[in-house]
Amino acid sequence: MNTIYIDNNWVESNSSDVIAMLNPSDGTVLRNVSRGNAQDIDAAVKSARHAFETHWADMPAVERGRLLYKVSQKLIEHQDELTQLESDDCGKPTAQARADAIAIARYFEFYAGACDKFHGETIPYQSGFSVLTWREPHGVTGHIVPWNYPLQIFGRCVAAALAAGNTCVVKPGEDACLSILRVVELAREAGLPPGVLNLVTGYGHEAGDALVKHPDVDHISFTGSPAVGTLVTQVAAVHHTPVTLELGGKSPQIVFSDADLDELIPTVVRAIIQNTGQTCSAGTRLLVERPIYEKVISLVAEAFSNIQVGPASQNLDCGPLIRKTQLEHVKSYVQAALNDGLKVAGSGNLAPDAPEGGFYHKPMLFRDVPASHKLAREEVFGPILVAIPFDTEAEAVEIANGTDFGLVASVWTNDGHRQHRMARRVKAGQVYINNYGAGGGIELPFGGIKASGHGREKGFEALYGFTVLKTVAIKYKN
Ligand code: NAD
Repeated sequence: MNTIYIDNNWVESNSSDVIAMLNPSDGTVLRNVSRGNAQDIDAAVKSARHAFETHWADMPAVERGRLLYKVSQKLIEHQDELTQLESDDCGKPTAQARADAIAIARYFEFYAGACDKFHGETIPYQSGFSVLTWREPHGVTGHIVPWNYPLQIFGRCVAAALAAGNTCVVKPGEDACLSILRVVELAREAGLPPGVLNLVTGYGHEAGDALVKHPDVDHISFTGSPAVGTLVTQVAAVHHTPVTLELGGKSPQIVFSDADLDELIPTVVRAIIQNTGQTCSAGTRLLVERPIYEKVISLVAEAFSNIQVGPASQNLDCGPLIRKTQLEHVKSYVQAALNDGLKVAGSGNLAPDAPEGGFYHKPMLFRDVPASHKLAREEVFGPILVAIPFDTEAEAVEIANGTDFGLVASVWTNDGHRQHRMARRVKAGQVYINNYGAGGGIELPFGGIKASGHGREKGFEALYGFTVLKTVAIKYKN
């Protein structure tokens, strides 16, 4: 039976079509999920609306928090199962999938604790007035999630939205969503009431579009590509639905000559190979001050030469890409770069027994890439690192800020003045000094500027986005 998750039950979808979920490690079908449609979305929104109006919004914050805490504990209990699902479905080496299973539980734990600590303010005003602000939930929030981090991205937007008192409808990515299908069941087992969390699988242009278009959805959190983010914004504007956009990146790591290379090299490698480069905040550009450029290139190339790529179950450094078209997409960037004469300084190795049907691509380091080249400007979404030398701090800033994106940046230097100057001048939603956080830090507000999106998720800050401020002015007689 084709099913969607509504009112805490798997119910029959209005569509008889299915979408095959492939195992990226060997190209076989793991299982089918429903190709949900607009009627399914409508049923899910009605369920969420009913739950919002009848109990969820009025539940004391402390009780909401206790429920979310129970969800976090349930997710911890089922960590092994969620790890396996995420690993098979996304092609993530088991250790990376486990990190995601731990992260989703932590999101629920963090926002459970935040529920009864989030409040409005009082404002000094004219004599005879008490003015206060309330942080009210939007109502029904729609969540469009991509395939690259189903557990983590579901956790970060849904846990925060629920904590703020919203009820949710989720449309997961069509390339990987099996872990999320289990998470909604675990939330029910933990005691989350019916209607609070609903889920419709399906394609973006069908179920996703229907969710954004729905007149009774009060807020959309969208995580995905800049192109679809633009579409979503346009469609949402028809009903003036507020939208949070978490989009792509081309994040720079800026390395000055006094950087600690022992810390730098493993961090640079991790930041590009994590999830085989299919990470919005991957560190894809390596900007290095000229005096240490050759040394850094040779150390990164040496580290790349030890990287093993293979099936998720082997828990190597890198798994496959998500699907065949993604593999072709990455290959086309590599081929174009080679055609333009760009030089490969290092690459990883494909495991000899990697299954034929898997979507594998070796990590590659390109050197001396002109900052204007598309390999240095566009989001490849694969394990391709570009190295660019620079001579001055001003030039480093210009190159770092010279793409359409602004998600994450890092600066490697021990000069304190430079650390502060650079943190100010680099245009990004997060700046790391002498470290790099691709996707880490549940407590740290995260989000982009420019084509990387707007609005913030993660941390306490997310709760502002998932609520609306109401100002209440009460006049009294002295
Ligand atoms: P995508 O934009 O193709 O799809 C993302 C989601 O949007 C999917 O669930 C898809 O079904 C849905 N969608 C597609 N068309 C839609 C439409 N017309 N209306 C409504 N929904 C629609 O992106 P993707 O390929 O799944 O993910 C990769 C992109 O996501 C990259 O650009 C990456 O940087 C970005 N991303 C950003 C973050 C972040 O936090 N900033 C995190 C992960 C991924």
